[in-house]
Amino acid sequence: MKLIHTITELREYLATARKAGKSIGLAPTMGALHAGHLSLVDALAAKIPENSEIVVSIFVNPLQFNDPKDFERYPNTLQSDLDALAGTAATVVFAPSPEEIYPEGELTVLITSTGPVAFEGLHRPGHFAGMLTVVAKLFNIVQPDYVAFGQKDAQQLFLVRSMVRDLNIPLEIVVVPTMREADGLAMSSRNRFLDPENRADALALSAALQVAAKEDGVDAALAVATGILDKAGVALDYFALVDPDTFQEVSGDYHGKVLAIVAANVGPVRLIDNLLFELTTDD
Ligand code: AMP
Repeated sequence: MKLIHTITELREYLATARKAGKSIGLAPTMGALHAGHLSLVDALAAKIPENSEIVVSIFVNPLQFNDPKDFERYPNTLQSDLDALAGTAATVVFAPSPEEIYPEGELTVLITSTGPVAFEGLHRPGHFAGMLTVVAKLFNIVQPDYVAFGQKDAQQLFLVRSMVRDLNIPLEIVVVPTMREADGLAMSSRNRFLDPENRADALALSAALQVAAKEDGVDAALAVATGILDKAGVALDYFALVDPDTFQEVSGDYHGKVLAIVAANVGPVRLIDNLLFELTTDD
C-alpha cells in the first residue's frame, strides 16, 4: 500500500495505472478509521475488477466544519489508520495537507441552487458547501471510476448523488450500509468522545429509528421516536421522515419507502443516524 501526500505524485501514479488498463476506486474519509470505513474499501473491492487501484483519501476538511472546536478536536490518527488499512484491499492512501488541497487564493466553492438545505444544512451552516467542494476536488484529482459513500451520512449521499448527476461526473457511486456496534449505535469517529453515560444515552438514536420503523403512519412513527429521544435526555436537533428520493419531509397519510433521519447532541458529541424502511398507513 502506497502513502501519497501530493496531488502531483498521486496523478502520476494513477496515470500509469490507468495506462495499464486498471480501474480506479475511491473512498473519501476524514480518517480516524473504524470498521464502517473499512467496509467502504471492501465494497469497492467487491465491485471493481481485480487488480484495480483502490484509493482511500484521508483528509480532515477544514472547509466543512462549521464549529471550529469540532475541527480542532477531530481525531488525527494517520499511523493507526494505515495499520487498519494494511489488512484491506486499499492500494493507495492519499493524505494531503490542508495547503495541498486549498492553496491560498482559492475562489471557487460548490453550493446547491437552493442554498442551505434542511436538516444538516440548516444545523451546520457551510458544511455542505465545504463537503461538496472537497468531494468535487477529490473526484477531479483521482478521476475514479467508482466511489464509495456510506448510507450513514444520508443527506451527504443524497447531495453527492445530485452533484454527480447535475454536473455529469462520469463515475458510479457505491452505497455502503451503515456499520453498527453490537448494541445498535452507528459507528462514528466521534463516538470515542462519549463517556459511559453519554454512550448509554446515544443508544436512543438507533432505538428511536427502530421503533419508528415498526409503527403505522407518519404521526405515530414521529410520536414514538421523539418520546424515546426525550426520555433519554439527548439534545435533539431533528427527527424527521423524508422521501429517500427527494429528501423532502413526508406527512399525513404518506406511505411507502421512507428514510427516518435523526441528529442530536449527546453530551459533547453531535451524532447523526438514519434508517430506511417501508411505512404503512394506519388504516
Ligand atoms: P467520514 O470519515 O466520517 O467523513 O466518513 C467517510 C465515509 O465513511 C463516508 O462515506 C461515511 O458515510 C462513511 N461512514 C462513516 N461511518 C460509517 C458507518 N458506521 N458505516 C458505513 N460507512 C460509514
